[in-house]
Amino acid sequence: SPVNLVPMVQEVVDQWHSKEHQINIHHMSPELWVRGDVDRLRQVLHNLISNAIKYSPGADRVDVHVTSSEGKVSLSVQDYGLGIPEDAREQLFTKFFRVDNTDRRQIGGTGLGLAIVKEIVEGHYGTIGFQSEMGAGSTFTLELDEFELSSMDGKIVIFEDDDNLAKLIQLH
Ligand code: ATP
Ligand code: MG
Repeated sequence: SPVNLVPMVQEVVDQWHSKEHQINIHHMSPELWVRGDVDRLRQVLHNLISNAIKYSPGADRVDVHVTSSEGKVSLSVQDYGLGIPEDAREQLFTKFFRVDNTDRRQIGGTGLGLAIVKEIVEGHYGTIGFQSEMGAGSTFTLELDEFELSSMDGKIVIFEDDDNLAKLIQLH
């Protein structure tokens, strides 16, 4: 069903925001709609923010961008942390894969977060990728098809309830 990503992002970011981490949201409009499962998309963002914080010891800032262009909505999570070594990049989305570097040996995890992210994003016919530089940080970006409200021919209206769940009401 239709999901407005902007309030969903706001909600997840609010859960992570604390004295130690400052998470900034940048969105180009108050409504950016995609089609999908809001709980699973929330989990994608949660896993990406979790990594951004966990692999950024000493950096207190994360930036989340939500934008749309040419029929695609993109959601990115940028950190200023450890970065991802060149030789780990191909396997990063593989189940149970973890980077075994001295800089992160003390940081716990199972290696499932990104495998789940990839599975959910691909289940939404979307794409996920990243850019990273060692010692400077990483940006994970996912792209989904934008859901155009105007394409619905006036037959349908969409609104959100308190849980930010989009509801589709067929008018008669
Ligand atoms: P889990 O998410 O299951 O608790 P995890 O964080 O180790 O465990 P993934 O989220 O799949 O597993 O990430 C795989 C590996 O990729 C991590 O072990 C980490 O080394 C590296 N990684 C992921 N995100 C980042 C990031 N933002 N910055 C630096 N390294 C990262
Ligand atoms: Mg993780």
